[in-house]
Amino acid sequence: MSFLDLGLAEGIVRAVTEQGYSAPTPIQAQAIPAVLAGGDLLAGAQTGTGKTAGFTLPILHRLATSGVKHASTTSQRTIRALVLTPTRELAAQVEESVRTYGKYVNLSSAVIFGGVGINPQIKLLKQGVDILVATPGRLLDHMQQGTVNLNNIEILVLDEADRMLDMGFIRDIRKVLAVLPPKRQNLLFSATFSNEIKALANGLLNAPTMIEVARLNSTVEIIDQKIHPVDRDKKHPMLAYLIKTHNWSQVLVFTRTKHGANKLVEQLEKDGITGMAIHGNKSQSARTKALSEFKDGKLQVLVATDIAARGIDIDQLPHVVNYDLPNVPEDYVHRIGRTGRAGATGEAVSLVCVDELGMLKDIEKLIKRKLPSEVIPGFEPDLNAKPQPIQLRSQGAPGGGRRPQQNRSGNGGNAPRNPAAKPGGPGKSAGGNPRPAAPHRSGGRGR
Ligand code: AMP
Repeated sequence: MSFLDLGLAEGIVRAVTEQGYSAPTPIQAQAIPAVLAGGDLLAGAQTGTGKTAGFTLPILHRLATSGVKHASTTSQRTIRALVLTPTRELAAQVEESVRTYGKYVNLSSAVIFGGVGINPQIKLLKQGVDILVATPGRLLDHMQQGTVNLNNIEILVLDEADRMLDMGFIRDIRKVLAVLPPKRQNLLFSATFSNEIKALANGLLNAPTMIEVARLNSTVEIIDQKIHPVDRDKKHPMLAYLIKTHNWSQVLVFTRTKHGANKLVEQLEKDGITGMAIHGNKSQSARTKALSEFKDGKLQVLVATDIAARGIDIDQLPHVVNYDLPNVPEDYVHRIGRTGRAGATGEAVSLVCVDELGMLKDIEKLIKRKLPSEVIPGFEPDLNAKPQPIQLRSQGAPGGGRRPQQNRSGNGGNAPRNPAAKPGGPGKSAGGNPRPAAPHRSGGRGR
């Protein structure tokens, strides 16, 4: 099947082909016709499946070919499609995709998110925009200031809706929904289907087409995964040992909390291992600096929390270490999917202490395989150690950490995977992800 077979306009197909994509990914093959048909959509898909083009391409097609006459000047345009995303990075990437795929159609786009000045955004909005990509917090700021007009929205996308809920955006989203015209097409993308997501979908979507693709199965298969059992207080020396003995030069390490990330960087420094932490409490410039030094090979280790890692897009990242296992099993797949891209083999190791055996079980259930376990001589875990409760949030950072997810751990809140869904996503394209242009290279939470 080709993109042309899906019924997309020639100019859109040309732009996609220029990106080097010859065939739609499974999510695209299902989502594009559904969106073109005009109905609502509930899609279960994560990053790496090609979901962004899955909604961007048909939106471009619909707006470019639908009844509304193209305004001759941009200032006459009104916002017709609104995409909400949880993070600044994702917003910037989605809008970059809109621009890339929409280069041959007469539509304009803009991205707005927090953490940067609001005035340039006001100016952009005044100039006239067809497709707006936004994080909920900053969009609300614009709504309150009266600098954005959402009266003509025809299509609404909630991208990574589960993340938006995790990050506490539900009230902001509801405030946005309240001002949108009731007659519109709604597309909801989410990696998981907690009860909260189901409730949101029930209230928002009208007889939606439902599609779900398993994520990155093909990638998961080419990643060499293992766990190293270890005592809770031996994780740091074990990590230093692994980095040194294997001579790892570019390692992305995941910790559960921001405090844990900072502490680990300090500890590694004492071992002569260069590292930096990126998380929600770091300034934008600190994050950008850490990421670019890591990409350039100046930093051996980048320590990240799950949310901060969302925007990291590094080709050929050889090593991912789960210093702490994620409490949401899907995050495991997301984390390790950062290695083994573009067909490259990658390695993902998880340091697992007795407190995390429940999480390990949840992860193994999700990925439908048992992870091989390798005890490292000198780090044999104490077999009599008693599990302790896991702290899911940095101490002294109320509201700053990720909301605890006990209800989702154990996969209890997730809908069963669609057995008919085809596995696999595209690998990372050789051309890489389109990068946001300055000043849109921004990270962190939406506000
Ligand atoms: P996404 O899931 O939207 O974040 O996309 C993941 C990656 O797949 C991005 O780097 C896209 O550029 C790439 N991609 C999107 N569509 C295709 C396709 N049809 N074939 C190959 N790669 C694609």
